[in-house]
Amino acid sequence: MTPEEILERVEEIKARGNSPAREALDPVNVPMIRHWAEAIGDANPRWAPGPDTEAPPAMAQVWTMYGLNPERMPGDPLPDTMSIFDEAGYTSVLGTNCDQTYARALRPGERVAISTRLDEVVGPKVTGVGEGWFITTKSIWTVGDEGVATMTFRVLKFKPGTGRASVDKTKSARPMINRDTEFFWAGTAAGELRIQTCNACGELRHPPGPVCPVCHAMDRGYVVASGRGTVHSFLVHHAPAVPGKKLPLTLALVDLEEGVRMIGEVDGEVAIGDDVEVWFDPIDDEVTLAKWRPSGTQAVEPEPEPEPSDIPVWELPITPTLVVSTALATRDFQDVHHDRDRSIGHGSKDIFINILSTNGLVQRYVTDWAGPQTQILSCALRLGAPAHPYDTLRFSGTIVSEQDGVTTIDVAAAVSIGMHANARLEVRLP
Ligand code: ZN
Repeated sequence: MTPEEILERVEEIKARGNSPAREALDPVNVPMIRHWAEAIGDANPRWAPGPDTEAPPAMAQVWTMYGLNPERMPGDPLPDTMSIFDEAGYTSVLGTNCDQTYARALRPGERVAISTRLDEVVGPKVTGVGEGWFITTKSIWTVGDEGVATMTFRVLKFKPGTGRASVDKTKSARPMINRDTEFFWAGTAAGELRIQTCNACGELRHPPGPVCPVCHAMDRGYVVASGRGTVHSFLVHHAPAVPGKKLPLTLALVDLEEGVRMIGEVDGEVAIGDDVEVWFDPIDDEVTLAKWRPSGTQAVEPEPEPEPSDIPVWELPITPTLVVSTALATRDFQDVHHDRDRSIGHGSKDIFINILSTNGLVQRYVTDWAGPQTQILSCALRLGAPAHPYDTLRFSGTIVSEQDGVTTIDVAAAVSIGMHANARLEVRLP
């Protein structure tokens, strides 16, 4: 399908305008609010069961989620648009923006309906993850004739595998770890370069093996090397691609001070005879590789600048339970939020937090600080790095402005690999 053909079909969907209003499967109700508040960990008393229970604004989208085995409403523009791009090979999807506004709090018993139109399709664009198209939809939630919330939602539909080469070092070839070599890999994990020794005659040897080549004794131990050596020989590999490695890739035979020779990857340029020093690169939770770099080039890790934060920083450990419980409490049954194998199959590292939950956590962060009576008027999310289990979400916030009783707050939600989400909220403080 050519871009022109894609745009022609997109125009047909745009021309339909707003879809017919689709009613939520359930009215706003206390049990779903309670499940959501439990999963998000939001103890705001306004959400608690009682005569005056309110629905959290961040749940606006939850009420009209399709569910586990949905029957799509004919004429819903987002799935129709998605299927055009699936057909054209843009099969992967990434949420990039979610901007919501809230006119008022919803109450149990109210039945929300959603109407969506396709607003804009822009592409093809070259992005970091691949060639793709940005698709923007605009939705409005109503109760009867009254508009209660709106959402502008943008996704990137892209061709998997067309992104700028990004290196996932967890895809590196993994060493064979056995009885003879486990001491070596335990060493790299502990930041030690270990050389096998013969306990009978004292000979050092590498690579490790079961028998001393000099005296044939099998009694073996190890010493910890200084980590310094010189380049005996090296090669620079330019092609083909090597999983988990950035090209060009320099591999060297290194003569250790202790007298054995070791092969390893070198960071930086070297020549024969150059002094090199070891460094340790954990490629995942289980394996740490010993690598080399020219002596004296040890990168001085810059102290990360703490972002200025007017709101006390909140660090939230991400557990699989958090990811799964919040996905289900927001009625988001996409497999990437609860099924690790399927998620990895889609090219992800693990399951990850869904957008609706990020929205909930950001709003909880603000109301935990500003007080439960804070009224959230809008929340605009720009989404970045995925939030995977065993990482930590670090929330910080700054006050941007205060005008006519409306306070604008920027929230940053960072994970170890970068920014998970930037949010701008407009709130009325109590
Ligand atoms: Zn020996």
